[in-house]
Amino acid sequence: MLKLHSSIKTKFNKETFITKLTDSTLLPLPLRSFNSLLVDATNLENLNSQATQEFECLVIKNSQNIDFDYSNIHYHNLIILPSELNYLDSGDIIKVSPQSGKISTLYRKNSNYNVIFMTERCNSNCLMCSQPPRNIDDSYLVEDYLKAIPLMSPETLEIGITGGEPTLLKNDFLKIVTACRDYLPSTALHVLSNGKLFSYLQYACSLAQIQHPDLMIGIPLYSDIASIHNYVVQAEDAFDQTIRGILNLERTNVRVEIRVVVHQQTYQRLEQIARFIARNLPFVSHITFMGLEIMGHTRANLEQLWIDPVDYQDKLEEAVCYLNRRGMNVSIYNHQLCVLRKSLWPFAKKSISDWKNEYFPECDACTVKDKCGGFFSSSSLRFSNHINPIVSKYLLPNGI
Ligand code: SF4
Repeated sequence: MLKLHSSIKTKFNKETFITKLTDSTLLPLPLRSFNSLLVDATNLENLNSQATQEFECLVIKNSQNIDFDYSNIHYHNLIILPSELNYLDSGDIIKVSPQSGKISTLYRKNSNYNVIFMTERCNSNCLMCSQPPRNIDDSYLVEDYLKAIPLMSPETLEIGITGGEPTLLKNDFLKIVTACRDYLPSTALHVLSNGKLFSYLQYACSLAQIQHPDLMIGIPLYSDIASIHNYVVQAEDAFDQTIRGILNLERTNVRVEIRVVVHQQTYQRLEQIARFIARNLPFVSHITFMGLEIMGHTRANLEQLWIDPVDYQDKLEEAVCYLNRRGMNVSIYNHQLCVLRKSLWPFAKKSISDWKNEYFPECDACTVKDKCGGFFSSSSLRFSNHINPIVSKYLLPNGI
């Protein structure tokens, strides 16, 4: 699992700042103050003072690999990365608090799993929330990302917006979507929201008016029965608000994805959820059935939530095939291929963010490992009893 937060020993007197890393010593001088020069420790001796001149910081990675006396480097802002951040590369964006020594990765240029984490606050409290809400003032996050978005590569394929509940930031959420439209016009934007605040038509209209060219709102729905959905999200009236929110997004031409997390409280009615969606929300762009991430509240409520995915294959197959027959775009996220019935393999996607995606040692012998989404880093706490390498010479035409 990649660590996104760490600490540095090299402290200097500067306010918290956000900077983009570059390995180009040819960057024109006027641009350097917005960038930090990233240097591999093994190349340090080749650098002359002109090459490093006027960058915001000098950032050294892989310092653990060589015996070097860093006290000889006299640079105004020097950062020696801890080993867990040696993955940082040119084009990545970091946030540094030099006085406290905190450092965080905000964006990785070569990753397809970048997210804008907007807030820890939420107006639901789902039984299986992997990021349990905290009622704190974290409005500084918006400012951080408003600074970081212009530094991101316009070639970024997709960015997620997540929380907590991003729409709780109301106008600030709209500002972030606007900044993504302006600075990253070719980047798909995928927002995770419980959809409740879109039950206010005016708010859905405000989002639509931004006219982001490639926006999707991913909204969880846990049952076709209001009381079950409300119980799972631990919030009264959530079902009504979410459904009204989805309908308002449709009215304003904002695309919606429905997310159904499958666990002990939801698996019984998968087919009924599928029918409910097909009849009442046939306009949604995508429906995905998701496995549990054993983090946050899921750990605390594990006995109430866990079911071996092998034990709900009948119901999952009924739901997925029903939606597929109705011509709807349906997927399965967060499931290993060896626990899925083969008829479901074409729907399985590699969905786990790269920084928390792992495979078990037995996966090395598996012929479909490159097609399999693998595990969350937290999956070692509870996983299916049916993880078995698939050893087959005969693959389907689509490669699985
Ligand atoms: S053995 Fe590992 S790689 Fe193979 S299908 Fe199972 S989880 Fe995936």
